[in-house]
Amino acid sequence: MKALKAALRETIALEGPISVEHYMSLCLRHYYATRDPLGAAGDFTTAPEISQMFGELIGLWMLEVWNGMGRPTCRLVELGPGRGTLMVDLLRAARLLPDFKEAATVHLVETSPSLRQRQQAALAPSGFEVEWHDRIEDVPAGPMLLVANEFFDALPVRQFLATERGWCERLVGIDSERLIFGLRPEPEPALGKPLRLHDVLEWPATSVDIMGTLAGRLAQDGGAALILDYGYWGPAFGDTLQALKNHHPVDPLEEPGEADLTAHVDFHRLAQAAAAQGTRAHGIVTQGDFLQALGIEARAKALKTRATVAQAADIDGALARLTERGPTGMGELFKVLAVTHKAIQAVPGLPALPSSS
Ligand code: SAH
Repeated sequence: MKALKAALRETIALEGPISVEHYMSLCLRHYYATRDPLGAAGDFTTAPEISQMFGELIGLWMLEVWNGMGRPTCRLVELGPGRGTLMVDLLRAARLLPDFKEAATVHLVETSPSLRQRQQAALAPSGFEVEWHDRIEDVPAGPMLLVANEFFDALPVRQFLATERGWCERLVGIDSERLIFGLRPEPEPALGKPLRLHDVLEWPATSVDIMGTLAGRLAQDGGAALILDYGYWGPAFGDTLQALKNHHPVDPLEEPGEADLTAHVDFHRLAQAAAAQGTRAHGIVTQGDFLQALGIEARAKALKTRATVAQAADIDGALARLTERGPTGMGELFKVLAVTHKAIQAVPGLPALPSSS
């Protein structure tokens, strides 16, 4: 832990300030490699950790899409599976169509060795064949059904600030031992002239690359990807870099590699990167609308028929939390986008997006 802070200081002292993107990528690699960040004892809680209903409904979504594709042999892929909870719940729901088990192999794209171990323990009882990969490129060819929940928000972004000189990249430097934000003096010519001083522009280069690769695979081999994340439909300006520790916001420079770092996902950019590969986009809708369209209320009711009074209260609490509207509600802050092969005209819970957008 101290090692990363010291290494950052040394790198910056020797080579000068580094970009926010480089800073994020060093912190995030260290962060995810050295802990289980999820749950009450960790730094943040995700939808699959709130309730089994989340993964189960996504499982039913996958089954319906797979059925519509004519039930091919396929790769069931998850990007950044955390504790493996979503995949476990998804596979339980997928047992409704026994043929699916014969047709699907599970592929988890995960860089953290410690989280891979958690995922392995969680998935061993499922009986599905599971393989791990460092990158989406390493998943073998073939039709794909993919899910990514809170994955894209954990990828580094470049940030640019509107100055009188133009868009200048935000950097991380040091000032008497402390990490501080700064700016590259020369503006980025490719970005042109900003319209308003002090605007912040975020460029999610890694997300755009991964989405491009993923969409290229879908266009070539068929299939669908479902992306759920904290985000918005751009273009928009603003500094969305956030650090969370023990469920509370902290200064992103305070404890490098010890707090979760995220940036909000610009779904418009992801959809554009996908469209450039010749895929179809569906959505976006809020997580609340999506889960309701998939029948989360009926699922909660069914679970409650077999529940104790305390369990029934938990189910109601989880339902409210996953679908909650308003400016701080997960049901509204989280958005859902699907990207599919052109042959797939419609997917459950999401309207097809006009190809011009
Ligand atoms: N999807 C899970 C966990 C979200 S946390 C859930 O909803 O609970 C982000 C996950 O992405 C972690 O598993 C983390 O180790 C993984 N991750 C982060 N950056 C990654 C990268 N570049 N490649 C693959 N996995 C990554």
